[in-house]
Formats: sequence, structure tokens, C-alpha cells
Amino acid sequence: MARVALVTGGTRGIGNAISARLAADGFKVAANYAGNSEAANACAKDLGVAVYKWDVGDEAQCKEGIAKVESELGPIDVLVNNAGITRDGFFHKMSAEQWRDVLRVDLDSLFFMTRPVIEGMRNRGFGRVINITSINGQKGQAGQVNYSAAKAGMIGFTKALAQECANKGVTVNAIAPGYIDTEMVQAVPEEVLKKIIGTIPVGRLGKAAEIAGAVSFLASDTAAFMTGATLTMNGAQYIAG
Ligand code: NDP
Repeated sequence: MARVALVTGGTRGIGNAISARLAADGFKVAANYAGNSEAANACAKDLGVAVYKWDVGDEAQCKEGIAKVESELGPIDVLVNNAGITRDGFFHKMSAEQWRDVLRVDLDSLFFMTRPVIEGMRNRGFGRVINITSINGQKGQAGQVNYSAAKAGMIGFTKALAQECANKGVTVNAIAPGYIDTEMVQAVPEEVLKKIIGTIPVGRLGKAAEIAGAVSFLASDTAAFMTGATLTMNGAQYIAG
């Protein structure tokens, strides 16, 4: 029987490529989104995946959304915590709201989303939790103290939960992308983008499909011995130890 994969923020950007890849791999895919119904409907139509709207930074909505996915598609075997936001600004000017929004959506969501599915995965003896962090959680980024803190927190979460679940057939890994060619990055002014690309030894932006390829591997049976890892995928822009 086909395994079920839930991808948060699975309708646009990197998440859309992940949904497409997992669907092509034979998973029954649920793609979650926040509010852009137009993009979600296009995703459902183009990829043939089920789409579900809720805010991953809201515990009650996560519980309800996950219950709906499980009743419609079956128990979740693969959870990809991909949804994330930025609210950039220098720390000495940062509001508590900018801090809280990012921590809530990028880090609290890992608890809200993973907690309801982890017991089922442990009991069934199979599960894959894949967290999409960032190069900026590894190296830190000026103007993104909130985002860097949340993304670094995801790596700690990954390492600790991996140890707890290692003997239950459940792996927990993270992927840390560098600059990926998504709408968010395309919105950066051309001159700035040129400068950014100049700092990437591979000489180009990454592709969402490349991140999706790594998710595909981590979700597979082949990846059973890899857990607690953070896969650095940034064109050698920053080589984490
Ligand atoms: P996008 O902004 O292109 O897509 C974001 C997706 O997440 C959308 O589907 C959006 O839904 C959804 N989303 C946003 N907030 C919420 C929320 N509160 N609840 C549920 N869904 C939500 O993002 P990217 O593809 O660029 O990034 C995906 C992940 O990769 C993020 O975690 C990001 O931090 C990380 N990353 C991205 C990099 C890049 O270069 N793009 C580099 C490194 C890391 P809707 O369409 O409804 O708004």
C-alpha cells in the first residue's frame, strides 16, 4: 500500500517540488498551505495531490489538520516540515512580533506538527521526519537573528528526536538549503542576486528539485541508517563540519 507523506508549505516553492517528487515516488501526498488558495488549487490540479489549509504555527489547527489528513489518506508515514517564513530586520530594530512570528511558524511548528504523528510512527515501526532548515541556521545571517535562531533550533530538534526514535524505525533528519531559485529569491534585485551568486562556488542558485531529490532519498527505505543528520546543500557556499 502507498505510504502517506505530509508536506507543510507543500504547495509553493521548495515544498511544491517536494510534493511533486514524493507523488512521483508513489506516495499519497498531502500538501499543506497557509492561505494562497490559488497556488494550492493549481498545485492540486498539476500534481494530483490533496491540499489542506492550516497555519502550522497554531497548535489546534495542526491537530485538526493532521486528523483530517489521516482520516482521508491514512496514517502519516513521512512528515516534511518545510513551511517557513522570514521577518527580516537588524536585531537592534527588531520587534517582539517579528521575533515571535518567525519562532512560531519556523520552530514551534515542529512541535505542533511532529508531536501528533510521532507516536503512530513509533508504534507502526516506520516513520520519516524531514526538517527543512537553512544555511543561515548553520552560519548565522545578519538581519535574520530570529530566522537564524529558529533554523538552528530545528537542527537541535532533529538531533535529539533522532536519538529518541532510532530504535523504532523512525528517522529524523534535516536538510539545510543555501540559496534556491524560488519566487522568494527571484524577488531579490538583480544586482544583489548577482553578488549572492558570486559567493556560491558552484556558480548558480540551487534548484528546488535538487532539495526534493534529497527528501526523496531520506524518505526511502534505503535511508534507514541515516538519522540525526543535517544535509548541507548550498553549492559549497558554506561547508558545515
Ligand atoms: P515559499 O515562500 O516559496 O513557500 C512557502 C510555503 O509555505 C507556501 O506553500 C506557504 O503557503 C507555506 N506557508 C507559509 N507560512 C505557513 C504557515 N504559517 N502555515 C502553513 N503553511 C505556511 O518558501 P520557500 O520554498 O522559499 O521555502 C521553503 C522552506 O525552505 C522554508 O522553511 C525556508 O525557510 C527554507 N529555505 C528556503 C531557501 C530559499 O532559498 N528559498 C533557502 C534555505 C531555506 P501559502 O502559499 O498559502 O502562503
